[in-house]
Amino acid sequence: VQRFNVVVLGAGGVGKSALTFRFAKNSFNELYNPTTEETYCRDIFLNGERYAMEIVDTAGAEQFTELNEQYVRAAHGFVLVFSLTYQASLREIDDIRKQVSRVKGANADTPIIVVGTKLDLVHEREVTRDKIRQLVNKWGITFYETSAKQNWHISDVFQDLLAQMRDR
Ligand code: GDP
Ligand code: MG
Repeated sequence: VQRFNVVVLGAGGVGKSALTFRFAKNSFNELYNPTTEETYCRDIFLNGERYAMEIVDTAGAEQFTELNEQYVRAAHGFVLVFSLTYQASLREIDDIRKQVSRVKGANADTPIIVVGTKLDLVHEREVTRDKIRQLVNKWGITFYETSAKQNWHISDVFQDLLAQMRDR
């Protein structure tokens, strides 16, 4: 089967691991475990075809010097994660995207999806949909608002990314 490498990037605590774990294992853990880098593999279907997705859940990506350039170079697609409950994490996405496109160089058109997490925490929400739109429209990329806890729109993210990676 065709294999795609996906790298999940974003600030600490935004929910990268929860998102990845929900998709890979269909499970959620309330406890915060500051991540050690972890790779998951999952089969995923598109139009009846099976694909293998390898997903790297990164740690410490908020420090660009620590961004593992090797993973980024090998990636066929990226999930850029911020928390809907933390405005500053959206601004970090901007930096991360620039970093990614620098490392990708000639492959700067590698598919990217932006994901806002913790949609279930409605009363803690800080980031408006307009703010997100302003940012992603500028780049011409799609975004999803998700909850790993409630399993809202998690598979949509990876399904969309798969379609973009395959059609590229
Ligand atoms: P990471 O550092 O980006 O990997 O963040 P984690 O995935 O470890 O999540 C940080 C904290 O936010 C943990 O306590 C998670 O349980 C919590 N969290 C992550 N996603 C969600 C979500 O969708 N809803 C809620 N309510 N909490 C979440
Ligand atoms: Mg983590």
